[in-house]
Amino acid sequence: MISQIDKTELLERFLHYVSFDTQSKPNAKHSPSSVGQMKLAMQLQKELIQLGLENVEVSKYAVVTAFLPANDPNLTKTIGLIAHLDTSPQCSGKNVRPEVIEQYRGGDIALGIGEEFISPVYYSFMQKLVGQTLIVADGTTLLGADNKAGIAEIMTALSILQKENIPHCNIRVAFTPDEEIGLGIHYFPMEKFSCDWAYTIDGGEVGELEYENFNAATAKVRFFGRSIHPGYAKGKMVNALTLACEFQQIFPVDEVPEKTDGKAGFYHLEDFSGDIEQVELTYLIRDFDEQNFAQRKAFIKSQVEKFNAKKGLKKPIELEIQDSYQNMYDVVKNVPQSIELADRAMKAVGVKPSHKPIRGGTDGAFLASKGLACPNIFTGGYNFHSKHELVSLQGMENTVQVIIEMLKCKGL
Ligand SMILES: [Zn+2]
Repeated sequence: MISQIDKTELLERFLHYVSFDTQSKPNAKHSPSSVGQMKLAMQLQKELIQLGLENVEVSKYAVVTAFLPANDPNLTKTIGLIAHLDTSPQCSGKNVRPEVIEQYRGGDIALGIGEEFISPVYYSFMQKLVGQTLIVADGTTLLGADNKAGIAEIMTALSILQKENIPHCNIRVAFTPDEEIGLGIHYFPMEKFSCDWAYTIDGGEVGELEYENFNAATAKVRFFGRSIHPGYAKGKMVNALTLACEFQQIFPVDEVPEKTDGKAGFYHLEDFSGDIEQVELTYLIRDFDEQNFAQRKAFIKSQVEKFNAKKGLKKPIELEIQDSYQNMYDVVKNVPQSIELADRAMKAVGVKPSHKPIRGGTDGAFLASKGLACPNIFTGGYNFHSKHELVSLQGMENTVQVIIEMLKCKGL
């Protein structure tokens, strides 16, 4: 348990951070994609200095970095903690009006003036939260627990470590912009953030510990046609739309997002655009297993070749495949202490770890591709990217406890 004072600090920090509108903008070319992210970055810089951290910096891209040296010579490891400043472009994060519900009694929660409800009929996890203090928005915006709960948890953990002079290892902290649009991490100062391993504090339900994610690539397939007046097209017209429809039929019908879960991979036709003259199909390719992932890419390549050979097109179809991110497990498995430490810390504070694969990517996946193991830890939040987002204060306390416990580096 953390003290009442610390609990109040945690809540106040969270409520303050969600008052910043930090929504990221899709298709942005540079970070930060919104001014609010820089404002929050500056605020956090001020607070990190107040907490006594060293080398506190904000880059022009709104990446905040700071360092807290170990206060015990026996604790030689350096552990990183990362959370993101932005909120999802899918739902407004402007003028968030949080509501604190003490001792949730179960049943529906009416948001704001009552036009929106969060109901356990849809969200069965709510049954586990009875008796806890929940924070919701008013039904007009998201809450921003993704990822301001993570930021508040990291800041509160640092504050407690400092106040109580708890022995801890070297700590690096980073708050990053534009995670939701996959942009900010490209500005991450790897050279300044040297550590043995790091954690993103960006998961959901209490106990979540994630260190496996999809390998991901995007394939673009381009078809070229020839447009002729349809009345006189016999033997002359080549319809790129029909070619694209025919090509789409070659994919296994069950290997799509709407029919897969757990560790099953897929091909996802994400976009189909064009006209008779030219069509572009965009496929997302996803698989946890490296070999299967390579096979999926090879499958598309071979199908394009076959299709070209069969059709004898004047202008053959073109294929472009680009890797997006890789399964972080390929790196994390070489740093098993990163998982063991998180597991032990959770158990020490009475939280049952639940290891889950992420059917997506995280900033940690990008960092893994640069060689830094970076599992993801729960924040106590739910229904991210939605007006129904909520966070449990007890869940947030649990995260603070887990962070503190990890930084003690017991058993390392
Ligand atoms: Zn997030």
